[in-house]
Amino acid sequence: MIGKVCAGVRTPRWAALGLGLFACVAAHSASAADCPGHPDALGTSRTLVVDPREHPRIGTMQYPETLPLRDHEVVLTFDDGPLPRNSNQVLDILASQCVKATFFEIGRMAKAYPEGVRKLAEAGHSIGTHSEDHPLTMNHMPIERVKQEIDDGIESVKAALGDDTALSPFFRIPGLLRADDVEDYLASQGIQIWSADFLADDWRHISSSRVYDLAIKRLEEKGRGILLLHDIQARTAAALPRILQELKARGYRIVHVVAATPQNPATPSEPQEWQLHPPSEDVAISRWPKIPNFVLADAGALAAPSLSDLDWRDGASMTLAEDRTTRGHGVPLPREAPWPRLSSWPSDGAAIALPVPAQDIFEIQEGLRVALRSGAPLPHHAEQTVADHEANSTDAGESRHRMRGKHHAASARHVAGRATRHTMHARHGGLKHLVQVRKRSV
Ligand SMILES: [Zn+2]
Repeated sequence: MIGKVCAGVRTPRWAALGLGLFACVAAHSASAADCPGHPDALGTSRTLVVDPREHPRIGTMQYPETLPLRDHEVVLTFDDGPLPRNSNQVLDILASQCVKATFFEIGRMAKAYPEGVRKLAEAGHSIGTHSEDHPLTMNHMPIERVKQEIDDGIESVKAALGDDTALSPFFRIPGLLRADDVEDYLASQGIQIWSADFLADDWRHISSSRVYDLAIKRLEEKGRGILLLHDIQARTAAALPRILQELKARGYRIVHVVAATPQNPATPSEPQEWQLHPPSEDVAISRWPKIPNFVLADAGALAAPSLSDLDWRDGASMTLAEDRTTRGHGVPLPREAPWPRLSSWPSDGAAIALPVPAQDIFEIQEGLRVALRSGAPLPHHAEQTVADHEANSTDAGESRHRMRGKHHAASARHVAGRATRHTMHARHGGLKHLVQVRKRSV
């Protein structure tokens, strides 16, 4: 269906083009009723137009902002393609449900399989990039190499598309291994960085049914957001039909995200809509319980309800992921296998298990930390808490990491090869919990 979407012109440059304050533009949107041959399809409920320059970083796993979604709205994203067999299967499944998604393509994959990228464009999906070679070291790289990875990836995908306009200025950092200079460069190019709101761990060696379980469970915990999946994974293709079916059964709606252009300006939104849990004085004061003075040493006695967000019950797999990228001192290892041995990649695993929060997350944390220690009421901006990570070596063989946060993002600085104890201190359903995870060395 081609519907009318009225969108406000939000930037001076568009105003300068004489488009006026508001403009109505034609936009594609498909509803279930418009999915030929599939009357029960999930469909795509609406198209959200975003301006990367206004919101350069999104995804509450790492950033304060995420897409301005309503309750029960979901944005599907797929990384690391195209890889013919599995990516084609994912495309067929999405087409059968008339669902539009965003794909973050790797430059060298696009070179190897340019038809796969063109298929995305033909199907009307949004296409972003994910670097040229998918290095899991972007947080350590000299900025010149970072720029080359980003620029080459864009050029490779553009070349595969044969049409510059089909590429969206969206980028996902490989492994979510963010760094300030990486973010600064992308922002300078008008490119929006997409982290995620939740994962389904589909790069790990888990069953498709586990991927399904995690996707639904984590979505239910947040109620809306950006789901990160990998179209190159067979388990993802296997899980996807059930995921889509369950989303429909539970009343979720799919939102397709496109970048603003002079002809198609950003969907009007308020700043608080870009926050998963907008600060509200009333809500914050009433919802936050009185916090006693924590004695973190007692953490082990308390329940761990929020671990599901990163599935840290599987401590061994996280340690394994770390060991693939560090040699016990945070030093990145070269990939074990030369490109493109996709099946054995840690892929995003190392960092997705422990994505690095942006600095502004830590800034928010300072107030919370003071409040927690003093027992004082929490400031409303604590609602935005994502993570806090402190690595305090307590003895030669063990380091303690403390993390706290609602969204469970955490630093990717690890001490591999040692027993490492994580104390996660997380809020869940308005309550504070302390979580302790013992990771085993492998
Ligand atoms: Zn990736």
